[in-house]
Amino acid sequence: MIAALSRLFFITCLATLVAYISLHFFGSDWAIFTAIAVLLTPLIYSYINLARLKAYIQSDSVENIPLPSGYWEEVYFGLKRLIKELKQRMRNIQEQHDHFIEAFQASPNGIVMLDDGDHIEWCNSIAERFFGLNFKRDALQRINFLIRRPEFVQYLIKRNFEEPLLLERMGPSASLSLMLQAFPFGQKRHLLLIQNVTDLQKADAMRRDFVANVSHEMRTPITVLMGFLETVQTLNLEKAQQDQYFEMMMSQAQRMKSLVEDLLTLANLESNALPAGSNEVKIKTLMALLKNDAEALSQGRHAFSFDVESNANLLGDEREILSAFSNLVSNAIRYTPDIGAINVLWSVNNEGQGEFSVSDTGPGIASEHLTRLTERFYRVDRSRSRDTGGTGLGLAIVKHIASRHQAQLLIESTPGKGSIFTLRFPKERLSA
Ligand code: ADP
Repeated sequence: MIAALSRLFFITCLATLVAYISLHFFGSDWAIFTAIAVLLTPLIYSYINLARLKAYIQSDSVENIPLPSGYWEEVYFGLKRLIKELKQRMRNIQEQHDHFIEAFQASPNGIVMLDDGDHIEWCNSIAERFFGLNFKRDALQRINFLIRRPEFVQYLIKRNFEEPLLLERMGPSASLSLMLQAFPFGQKRHLLLIQNVTDLQKADAMRRDFVANVSHEMRTPITVLMGFLETVQTLNLEKAQQDQYFEMMMSQAQRMKSLVEDLLTLANLESNALPAGSNEVKIKTLMALLKNDAEALSQGRHAFSFDVESNANLLGDEREILSAFSNLVSNAIRYTPDIGAINVLWSVNNEGQGEFSVSDTGPGIASEHLTRLTERFYRVDRSRSRDTGGTGLGLAIVKHIASRHQAQLLIESTPGKGSIFTLRFPKERLSA
């Protein structure tokens, strides 16, 4: 301010001096003329600079304006610095904003921001996928016009956001279960958080099914056992009859024991997240064990062949491998009628993978059952499984052991002709 006033004072003094000199040498007319000329010069200069400034502001390029000289240089310089600072501040704010958006986009949960009238202010791409939204198209639309599920509309109307809301059969293929909750923030706005709980729901349903299945499997032998006990207690039976009842009780107890043992095996396998160890498992020794057990179980009812085509041994957990192999062999024996043939083969295929296969001439399995055979308690022929002491857990155990050895369980079967169960091990699991 002082600088501006002193400049004005200087110009006024200059005009007075020039006017005085002109008056002395050229007369009063020239004095007025020269005084006005001296006063007008800075005014014209200011107008020119103002006009330039206006032009640069209109073209949004004030930063590039060349600096004039004198007082206007300071004005331009100050303005340029201010604009530079403002632009930098805006860039920082934009960067922060972009980081927030990136973080919200990276979230595995759906996020929707609603204003005080439940209009969509912003949503991430997961929320777009969950609800079939498109932010560019649906921004500022009321969310209950776009998500029309009655339970969701009620949730918004009631505004009791303490509890989450479960929406089932959502998503593009109506296969998702979504847990949604609204959280208030800012001025009556809400943040909708949407979590995909499909897997949790499935695991929960599986757990419930499993408990129901185990209870059912246990209840039958317990009921039968109690019936026999009552009979033996209340009736005065002959020794031979009593022995017969005891034998039947023993078989029911054996059934429960097998079930508990298989459950424990499964639980142990499931609790062990690490891959199986890599001890050398001698296939020839294993085959000899399997042959002995198979012949004892079959009691001459089947024709067997046990072939070892490759010298390669397996690298894995011997106990688990034996359990998986003997499950497949015992299934073949249990489901193949008398005089059937069972072939057990160890070989290495063209890709260098080890294959343990058990083929039988049993009843075979219809294709619709094949994908479900490894589910716990899934049986094609329930009564045949029970009659032969099956627990319905054998193939589930085999599948777990296979995955712990990075192996695949392949099942081929033709109803009426027989089945081939193959465990295919990667070459990394074979000894040199
Ligand atoms: P289970 O204890 O009932 O044998 P598994 O899990 O071992 O239970 O097998 C599941 C079902 O697969 C069996 O109930 C049976 O229906 C079918 N299955 C398994 N192996 C064979 C086979 N070799 N031939 C025909 N069906 C089989």
